[in-house]
Amino acid sequence: MARKILIVGAGQSGLQLAHGLLQHGYEVTLMSARTADEIRDGRVMSTQAMFDAALQHERDLGLNFWEEEAPHFDGIGFSLAGPGGSPALDWAGRLDAYAQSIDQRVKMSGWMEAFEQRGGKVIIHGVTVSDLDRLVARYDLTIVAAGKGELVQLFGRDPSHSPYSVPQRALSVAYVRGLERRPERGSLATVNFNLVPGVGELFIMPALTTSGPCDILFFEGIPGGPLDCFAGIRRPQDHLRLTLQLMEKFVPWEYARARSVELTDWGGTLAGRYAPVVRFPVGSLPSGGIALGMADVVVANDPITGQGSNNASKCAAIYLDKILDHGDGPYDQAFMQDTFASFWDYAQYPTTWTNAMLQPPPPHIVQVLGAASQHQQIADRFANGFNDPRDFFTWFMDPARSASYLETVAGAPV
Ligand SMILES: Cc1cc2nc3c(=O)[nH]c(=O)nc-3n(C[C@H](O)[C@H](O)[C@H](O)COP(=O)(O)OP(=O)(O)OC[C@H]3O[C@@H](n4cnc5c(N)ncnc54)[C@H](O)[C@@H]3O)c2cc1C
Repeated sequence: MARKILIVGAGQSGLQLAHGLLQHGYEVTLMSARTADEIRDGRVMSTQAMFDAALQHERDLGLNFWEEEAPHFDGIGFSLAGPGGSPALDWAGRLDAYAQSIDQRVKMSGWMEAFEQRGGKVIIHGVTVSDLDRLVARYDLTIVAAGKGELVQLFGRDPSHSPYSVPQRALSVAYVRGLERRPERGSLATVNFNLVPGVGELFIMPALTTSGPCDILFFEGIPGGPLDCFAGIRRPQDHLRLTLQLMEKFVPWEYARARSVELTDWGGTLAGRYAPVVRFPVGSLPSGGIALGMADVVVANDPITGQGSNNASKCAAIYLDKILDHGDGPYDQAFMQDTFASFWDYAQYPTTWTNAMLQPPPPHIVQVLGAASQHQQIADRFANGFNDPRDFFTWFMDPARSASYLETVAGAPV
């Protein structure tokens, strides 16, 4: 008889794992707080830029429904704000394989409908801890993939891997149409990473939304600073107006191409903040049952490095392999700890890198960012680190290693 698996949460990780398990003959029930239509017609949730390794896991499961339709981006552009309204540094690194951002409203609603069409069971219900307490006994394995929702309270914070206890950035997002291209980037479509020291970052990326291709304007404001001003804004038009005012002031080279943008739809804005956190993977329920946490439930990083959806995809792929390898074995604490440990073997790298990127850049990183404007090879390596951040630990993250890498590339002492 097929083993019964309950997944709570219909986001990147929960839906991807649900599809994977279904394809391997498991009896999968997915519980979602919202219907597919409610997700599609709701507010944006992310900027969800995903790189090749994470996209490949979706392709492996036949879930790349929008791959042709969604804009591809081939590089990461970097601009450092300088005095006088123009960037002090400006360069772009080329990705070895393209990246994409598909509005989670499109993807999650489409994946949920496809899951039901393929024979999966969906229950629409916002699950509480007491619901879960009753439910776990009915399934062989229960997985909580509820993102940053209230169910995270089941999973204790791991202080040894959680250096921050308060949010490090105020987030604000606007999905727009009508953005012009940066002429200096030529034919290279990029995510633009604009760094304004002491103020925050502005990311601009092409995406596919519910009405077709668009661009996303995404501010990461240092709390208490001038970009931390979206909390009280209610009307989407006011949110866009404020975004453009801030662009004109802090990143005028980006504002120049954004003068005539308009919002894609009423749900195309988002503002919020959360503290990055790593949690223990096993949640214990009052009646003695246990559940396994996945993706953002257990590793929620700040989106400054655009890794959360990528991690969620990689987590779903790792959990799928672990469940398949486990065969008929018991889904006990040891299995859960071991499954999370396999994810953490990878996730520790994006987590450490992301937490470092929230701090002012140390001198060796300033030097790397400067050298990337002189040497395309450095810019390209930086860009490809977003696809697999483990590479950053062989150069970028360490002063001595980055110095020796720069020396090799430049052929001169640094
Ligand atoms: C502003 C912003 C920008 C971002 N940009 C990027 C980026 O560019 N690239 C990137 O890789 N990542 C990015 N991320 C992070 C990324 O969106 C998340 O890390 C990713 O979606 C996590 O996937 P998940 O499956 O863990 O959870 P989610 O995608 O959050 O899915 C969780 C699901 O569970 C549901 N749920 C919650 N509670 C319950 C409940 N009690 N019962 C039933 N269902 C429940 C929710 O409604 C949701 O559908 C960004 C995040 C934010 C906030």
